[in-house]
Amino acid sequence: MGRGSCAHCGLSFLASAIDVDHIVPLSRGGEDVDGNVQLLCHSCHKAKTRVDMGYTAPPF
Ligand SMILES: [Zn+2]
Repeated sequence: MGRGSCAHCGLSFLASAIDVDHIVPLSRGGEDVDGNVQLLCHSCHKAKTRVDMGYTAPPF
């Protein structure tokens, strides 16, 4: 994989700038399966992690 698109902002990034995110975090009972993962750029991933931690309303 060379490039990937962020599932949230839709922009294209180098693979090194993309994280694999668990849509339902493992810490919340999410499964480590294809249906529960998405690609997010670093800034969207950071924002989602904040949401997953319960700091703000979910934009996803
Ligand atoms: Zn993004």
